[in-house]
Amino acid sequence: MTDTLTGGCKCGATTYSGSLAQGPMFRCHCRDCQQLTGTGHSEMVPLEAATFTITGLRREYQMTDGSGQPTWSSFCSQCGSPLTRKSQRMQHMVYVHAASLDDPTLYVPARTIYRDSAQPWDLPKDS
Ligand SMILES: [Zn+2]
Ligand SMILES: [Zn+2]
Repeated sequence: MTDTLTGGCKCGATTYSGSLAQGPMFRCHCRDCQQLTGTGHSEMVPLEAATFTITGLRREYQMTDGSGQPTWSSFCSQCGSPLTRKSQRMQHMVYVHAASLDDPTLYVPARTIYRDSAQPWDLPKDS
């Protein structure tokens, strides 16, 4: 697929675009995603890093993943909307939060990961 997807933050100060990448759209229940979204999980869409552009007032926060490698979360520095996740291990991908897409109906989750970390009030329902 070579669809170009666009999106941005709540206040409109930060926008991005990129081509949909090969790979599943997914729901992640890990603790990082809980804390970064303030909810029970994130909903992520993979875009090709080579085609990805982002402009505006974003900031990027660096964390360490389970294997000790760096991973990054970017968000609008004006309104705080979470926008992207990147990692050292998956450098060819930029994952965007599904609801930040201009057309969130394009998100069709194919799998759920870190099910064991799900909060009891947000248990995975499907496969
Ligand atoms: Zn904003
Ligand atoms: Zn996660």
